Amino acid sequence: MAERRVRVRFAPSPTGPLHIGGVRTALYNYLFARQHGGDFILRIEDTDSSRFVPGAEEYILESLRWLGLKFDEGVSFGGNFGPYRQSERREIYKTYVDQLLAEGKAYIAFDTPEELEQKRSEIENFQYDAKTRGSMRNSLTLSQPQVDGLIADGQQYVVRFKVEPGVPVVVNDLIRGEVRVMSDIIDDKVLWKSADELPTYHLANIVDDHLMEISHVIRGEEWLPSAPLHVLLYRAFGWEDTMPAFAHLSLLLKPEGKGKLSKRDGDRLGFPVFPLEWTDPKTDEVSSGFRESGYFPEAVVNFLALLGWNPGGEQEIFSLEELVKLFDVTKCQKSGARFDYQKGIWFNHEYILRKSNEEIADLFAPIVAGNGVDEPLSRVRVVVAMMKDRVNFVKELWPLCSFFFIPPAVYDEKTVRKRWKEDSAKVMGELAEVLEGIDDFSIEGQEPVVMKWVEEKGYKLGDVMNAFRLTLVGEGKGPGMFDISAFLGKEETIRRMKRAIDILQ
Ligand code: GLU
Repeated sequence: MAERRVRVRFAPSPTGPLHIGGVRTALYNYLFARQHGGDFILRIEDTDSSRFVPGAEEYILESLRWLGLKFDEGVSFGGNFGPYRQSERREIYKTYVDQLLAEGKAYIAFDTPEELEQKRSEIENFQYDAKTRGSMRNSLTLSQPQVDGLIADGQQYVVRFKVEPGVPVVVNDLIRGEVRVMSDIIDDKVLWKSADELPTYHLANIVDDHLMEISHVIRGEEWLPSAPLHVLLYRAFGWEDTMPAFAHLSLLLKPEGKGKLSKRDGDRLGFPVFPLEWTDPKTDEVSSGFRESGYFPEAVVNFLALLGWNPGGEQEIFSLEELVKLFDVTKCQKSGARFDYQKGIWFNHEYILRKSNEEIADLFAPIVAGNGVDEPLSRVRVVVAMMKDRVNFVKELWPLCSFFFIPPAVYDEKTVRKRWKEDSAKVMGELAEVLEGIDDFSIEGQEPVVMKWVEEKGYKLGDVMNAFRLTLVGEGKGPGMFDISAFLGKEETIRRMKRAIDILQ
């Protein structure tokens, strides 16, 4: 048999913002498709109109665009297997539902929600299946004229899959191996509803995977319980030969390691669980996003790729291209992956270090300007070069670096108490004179001259440098003193020193 073309899909339902676990599912599908030179398809599963949330589809598209996960086909990308939005495929599903009905593999059921509720209260663990369907109101217990009459009367109904009992079902999962169950545990799932003339998730999912020639279904663990039903549906349609291979990814767990990661964990511990910021259209509640929190998309991709899979070895920093080469879906772990958000922060820091000073400066410059400072980009770059190894996010640079651009308005009380000694004003006055006499105000130009002077005077180097720092920075932080003074230049350095002497003495 000829090798099948690899075609995978990401099939989110637009029921809200894309959870970070969903992003990982999309990423693994992307890596798998690229690795095999296959197609990565975006299908929107919007047949449950009661759960539809406006803006969710746009959010999903924007998230994956931000992360650089490009689709080959699908909603907003086009392709030969469309439409790719399930709500636009009603007629297609109807044909397949009618086929199952005609072949006696599905039946019509009229039971109202109240009647079903009644049964559930009468029978413990009630399941609509081979054992119970004979006592329900459906096309198996009613005569054809009765059924036709009810439909003509406008009674709402559903179409249920007729699951034959006693049939072994095997799901071949690339991660979990063979999962075997007996068909008896599967209920007669609703495939279609007359009320909205729409299929349920199960039917639409199988029909579309078949028609879109999907070769591999890589999705979250929450869908594993549905997989045996899906296998039976493929059989019912006679599509077993082209049934996709399954890979059910493990859950993302809370940072503490127990239980499924939820939005509340993010709120509680202060980290995003969504790729982009999201405003709930009903409540206006805002949830933070990785993008708005200052993460680089490459860092998020790198972090997520290693949640539940790793290529072995020590290396942790991988580009998307490297991940495409190394990814192995069969090596994904079966057990849940702890969402270690501290590690996510670490990844962002690593990407700051790896990015050029130019790139970081381009991101930092608007923040500098936004604080009312008019400084050429070349100077912003110098500051970035000195300071970027100290931050995890670009936005952390400003509080750390503002003193380079704005002279201290106040002098930190604690530092003054500790570092501004009896003779500091006098010593700083002398130092200002020494600096005045230096022509080459670079680090290399200043350092030996100042060191020599400190030695000749018999001052304690630490005392001098601490007071010097206080005059230029206003507190005890910052990089090497001569880095600071060289950046500020002679004039500004001496101006700051004199001002500090005036105020502090
Ligand atoms: N629409 C389902 C979801 O929202 C897709 C599940 C699948 O990939 O089969 O996750």
